[in-house]
This record gives sequence, C-alpha cells and structure tokens, in this order.
Amino acid sequence: MPSTSSTPRKAAIQTIAGRAAPKHVHPNASENGTAPAKPTSDYFGINTFGWRQMRSKLPKDVYAKLLASIRHGKKLDSEIAPTVAQVIKEWAITHGVTHFTHWFQPMTGLTAEKHDAFLSFDDHGQPVETFSGSQLIQSEPDASSFPSGGLRATWEARGYTAWNPASPVFIVESGGARTLCIPSVFIGYNGEALDEMTPLLRSSDVLSEKAIALLQLLGDSGIIRVHTTLGPEQEYFLIDRNHFALRPDLVMGGRTLMGAPPPRGQQLEDHYFGGIPERIQACISEVETELYRLGVPIVTRHNEVAPCQFEMAPNFEETDIAVDHNQLVMATLRKVALRHGLQAVLHEKPFAGINGSGKHCNWSMAITADNALDGTNLLKPGKTPHQNIRFLIFLAAVLKGVHKHAGLLRAGIGTSGNEHRLGANEAPPAIISVFMGDMLTRLIENIAAGKEAGKGAEQQLIKLGVAKLPEIEKDNTDRNRTSPFAFTGNKFEFRAVGSSQSIAFPITLLHAAVAEAIGELTDQLRETLKRTKNVNDAVLKVVREAFKETAAVRFEGNNYSQEWVDDAKKRGLLNLRRTPEALAQLTTKNARTVLTKLGILAKAEIDSRYHVKLERYVKDMLIELHTLAQMVDTMILPACYSYHGLLADAAAKAKTAGISVVPQVAAANDVGTLIEQLRERRAALGVAIEKAEHEHENVDACAKLLTSEGADAMGAVRETCDALELAVGDEFWPLPKYREMLFPV
Ligand code: ADP
Ligand code: MG
Repeated sequence: MPSTSSTPRKAAIQTIAGRAAPKHVHPNASENGTAPAKPTSDYFGINTFGWRQMRSKLPKDVYAKLLASIRHGKKLDSEIAPTVAQVIKEWAITHGVTHFTHWFQPMTGLTAEKHDAFLSFDDHGQPVETFSGSQLIQSEPDASSFPSGGLRATWEARGYTAWNPASPVFIVESGGARTLCIPSVFIGYNGEALDEMTPLLRSSDVLSEKAIALLQLLGDSGIIRVHTTLGPEQEYFLIDRNHFALRPDLVMGGRTLMGAPPPRGQQLEDHYFGGIPERIQACISEVETELYRLGVPIVTRHNEVAPCQFEMAPNFEETDIAVDHNQLVMATLRKVALRHGLQAVLHEKPFAGINGSGKHCNWSMAITADNALDGTNLLKPGKTPHQNIRFLIFLAAVLKGVHKHAGLLRAGIGTSGNEHRLGANEAPPAIISVFMGDMLTRLIENIAAGKEAGKGAEQQLIKLGVAKLPEIEKDNTDRNRTSPFAFTGNKFEFRAVGSSQSIAFPITLLHAAVAEAIGELTDQLRETLKRTKNVNDAVLKVVREAFKETAAVRFEGNNYSQEWVDDAKKRGLLNLRRTPEALAQLTTKNARTVLTKLGILAKAEIDSRYHVKLERYVKDMLIELHTLAQMVDTMILPACYSYHGLLADAAAKAKTAGISVVPQVAAANDVGTLIEQLRERRAALGVAIEKAEHEHENVDACAKLLTSEGADAMGAVRETCDALELAVGDEFWPLPKYREMLFPV
C-alpha cells in the first residue's frame, strides 16, 4: 500500500499547500519597493516600433508613404523598404535585440517564427549588424512542415512570408534573449494563402470596398477605408503546475478525460467577480506588464464563473492588429504562468461539468476618412436621421450575412475543443442565432411589418423612433448571455468562438458573410433609387425586406433551452453539434460561392482549410483516445488493483481470524465489478481506435467514426473511471482530483 507521502499526487498537494505566499515584485517596481515606479503609460508599447517612433525616426516622405500604405491597407512600397529597415534595425539594436524573425500564423492555430541574426561580415571579414529592406519585407521559411491541406506538395515546399506593415514590429523578450518579430503573412509561390492572416486581410479589403460603395450611395464622401474593430475577451483557467504535470490528459490534450465532479463546483456563485487570489494576481499583473510593453491594451481582468477561471479583455483595435495581439495574449499567459508555478489552460472545456471558456469577439465596422466621418462606428445608433439610416442598413447587412451564412460561421468555430462547449448543457449552443435586445427588436419588427409606411421617411423615422435612437441600454449586454451572437449597443459580440482558437478564421468568415450582404443591399438600394428618389425612403424599403427575410435568425429567448432547439428546427436553422458536420459547411456551394466570388479564398484554398481542420480534429481525437487508453492501463487499473488487493487481503485475514462479519468482501466485489466494467469499456475504446486508424486514408470516414464511436467509447470509459474515483481509497488514486485542482489549498 502506498504511504501517504509517496504518491506523486499527495506529494504535489503537500508542495502546493506548503508553498509560501507569493512575493511578487512588480516587474516595473522601484529598486526597493513593490510600488510601480512608473505609470503604465510610460512604458506602454516600448517593445513595439509603432506610430510614434516611426514618425520621429523616419524621413517625412518615407513616413508619409508608410502611413498611406497602412491606412489604405496596401503593401509596403519596396522603394522605401531599405530606409524603414535601417531605422527599425537601429531601434532594435539599441534595445538589445540580436535576431529578427518573420512572425506568422500558419494553419496550426499558433504562431511560427524562425530567427536569423543581424550579424553578418563585411568585405574585410569584420562583424557588423545588417538588415536589408528585402529582409524586412520578405523571408522564405521552409514551408513543408506546416499544414497546407494539400495546397502544396512537400516537394514544392516553397513558401514565403511578407511583412504586413499595418501591424507594428515588436520585440519579444524570452530567456534573456530579445528578438525582433515582424508580423507577416505566409503564402505559397503562386500566391496561395498558407496561413490565417492572408484570408483575413483579403476579407477586410473586400468588406471595405463594399462598405465604401454603400456609403457613397448613401451620400457619404471622403471615405478612405472602412475597417473592422475587434475586442476579444479571453477566458482561461490557471491551475497549479504540479497538478497539471500529474495529469497526462491535460498535458497531452489540454482537457481532463476523467474526473469525478467535486462536491462543490460553481453553485455557490462565489467566484465570478470575486477577489482575485494573491498568487493569481501576481501572475496576471506580470502578464499584463509584458503585454503593455508589447503595446497590447489590456484593460479588464476579473474572475470568471468557474473556480480558477479568469478573463482578460483589451480595448478594441483594428481587426488584424487585434488578432495578432490575441496571439500574444495567449502566448504570454502560457509563458508567464510557468514562472509562477501555474499553468494557463486555454482549452474550451478543460473540466467536464464546470463552465467552459470562450473568446467573446466584440466586433464592429468603422470609417477611416479625411473628414468628420473619421472614426464613425457604423453599428452605433446616431443622433440624426441620416446617421440612423446608415446604422439600420449596416445592421441589416449583419443580420443578412449571419442568416445566410450561419453554417459557415459555425464551421469557423468548429474545433475538437469547442465541440464540448457548443451544444453541451453549458452553451452557447451550436445553433447560430442573433440577439438584438428589446428596443431594436421592436424597431426591426415595426419596420418589417411596414408600420408607418407611406409617409415621408423623416416622418416614418420619427414615428418608429429611429430619428433619434436613445443610447441602447447598456444592460442589453448581460441580459442575454446565452446568445452566440449578440448585439450589445454599438457592436456585435460573437460569443461562440472558442478560447484557444485563432480568431482570424472565424472573423474572416464573418467578414465574408457581411461583405456579401452589404454588396447585395447596395445593389437593391441602387435599384430602388431608380424609382424612389429620396435616399432615406429607399433605405427603409431595402431594410424592410432584409428584416423580413432574416426574421428566423433573430432569437431573444434562452438559447440553452430545449424549446429553442425545437423552435430552431421549425425555423429551419442549422444545429450542428459535432465538429465534422460543422466543418462540412465549408464545402457547401453557398460557402464556396461567397468565398471565391469575393476573392477571399479560392476553391483550392477552401478545400485546404477543410482538410487541415478535419485532420486536426482527427489528430486531436486520436491523441485523446490514446491518452485515455494509456491512463487506464498504466494508472487507473493498477491503482484499482492495489486497492482491490488490499480489500482482498483484509478479507482473507479476517476470515482466517474467524471474524464473521467481513465487509471487505462486499466492498471488493463492488470495486471488482467496476474494474471488470472498465476493462470491457477499455477494450471497446481499443476497438474504436483500431477502426479509426484503419480508416487513416479516408479522413472523412475517420472523423465520422471518431465523433460517434470514438467519443462514445471515451464517454463510457470516463463514466466508469469516475465511479471508481469515488470508490477507491483516496491515497490510491494517482491523479489530482477536480476538488484539488480547482480548489487549491
Ligand atoms: P460590455 O462589458 O458591456 O460587453 P465593453 O464596453 O466593456 O462592453 O466592451 C467589451 C469589449 O468590447 C472590450 O474589449 C471593448 O474594447 C470591446 N468593444 C467596445 N466597443 C467596440 C467596438 N466598437 N468594436 C469592437 N469592440 C468593441
Ligand atoms: Mg462583453
């Protein structure tokens, strides 16, 4: 029998319990104290070469050209590249940087980098630091080891990365090394997108183009670009690293594959917005400080609903920068947590029965202009009838886009992790619907019903309450936390996005859906204007049709309820609970048409994404299945046998001693029955693995098997393991339990 202190689990618990309270010195503290020596604004962005530095360091004409390329979303002029490179190099070297890298986002969901030194040698063999314009603009990593989904055969392993000048270069500090990171796109030699960023940039461009055309038709001028804004709220868990290290399931796949529910979960509702524990606070502060240095504007931190669950949210930024920044947020959380003996767990559902994590993507569209329109949020109700006419038509475009392409949006958030969150009893559900709030619902329904029709638009607007929309109630935001896509006053919040995923793809698809809808509304408006001269009248006619046509996608009720599932079915809305069926939406005619027509993804690029994502699903699932099998074979069954043996020994001794009441016999039989059941279920798991691996060549069939038989087999094994966890003596159990991981002492 293992002694109390000899099991790794018990030893870990003792270490954690004995850990001294963290003595956290603020990274920006004065020499002797813990109070920050400087306000955040003093060091915010010091590790980025942003606007301020560029303006002060670059020659005026070069800065103007760079600014223009950034503002217009264009590529950098190769004529100015050498000057920009020189200035960036000098800035980097004075900050102790030795290497540079094109930092890009292959289709792994993560970022990739390959470092090169500034060091080179001049004609006399003397060491010098060099960095050319072409090194800034372009680099050629070996593309063969990144997923391409068949876009590029390995023998044509050529791909290159190119700087996206709209995203400032930044310095990453790690292990004492400082590296200059150049945010880049990653493309094949024929221009095919091998990454997450290229389609996003294409989608931003096309949305801009369509939105400008619509605005011009509405009579707005001087518009340079319409960009989208994004504020992703990141949810995550922080658990003790000692616990994490003892859980092969967390280490291998990021989520627990077994674990009996603790007596206390989140039912006391005492964690949400509670005081942040000191040890966690120390870690979060350090994460924030690193992010501030990188120019990531984190402004919100709080405890989330589940124990050990937290959230951090930035101020919104232009979408492509926000996407880069969210990658930095995830990477920094993972890195800094380790310094505090913690592990950041970003999986969508690390603990069954406990709230999962999402990444609520707050999203809107805004104008870049050379006049007073600059900065206008197109989804913010305004003060004048014209502003509200503009608001209504862009709102209609979002409804139209989400209604028509709900399947595509669902595909964009289809991952093995999100499968456990969407459509589980803790939502948001797999059904994509839009929440508008009371006031707008009334307005939309009145417009759709044609109320006040026939009068002049101005009159109608006043009657409908559109002429002067009140600030939309703030409390809308919290009133419907169950909606996967909610309007929250001046933006939409795409809540169904998973916590660990890159947000580039879901937002690309959202852009595609909305850009197409804007284009269609523009065409309809143009047609209507041939008959109806007044723009406001014409817009009302067009949005009326759009509101009528999209009624099915609007839902104000409880998205978690069974009634909604039934209702949605009647409305003809998709309810795609499993990842393979969600991803299949990428291959529909509807999806292909919108993405190719708008030039966001060519057919081969769509197919490649479908394959990369489906293969990823298969890999994730197989990793989980194998991990579970190994845990059962090498941890759970041996522990159960030991305990069973202990009971058997005791029973035998009692019988030898002539004791008539021997409770160990019944206990051993109970445990024995569960062990037998586990062995059977483990065998079925093995069969599922074998079948799935047999279908290796056919990814679709393999995914289908895994999402049904594979998932069921895992569920069955888990059920028995959890029953055993509650039956076997505590000191025998080899894994940290939920109550220990989530309620550290
Ligand atoms: P709430 O807490 O009511 O949801 P907040 O104003 O706190 O709303 O915003 C939450 C997130 O939404 C923040 O990241 C914020 O920066 C972002 N956000 C606010 N306005 C916009 C916008 N126009 N576009 C995109 N994101 C926005
Ligand atoms: Mg919010």
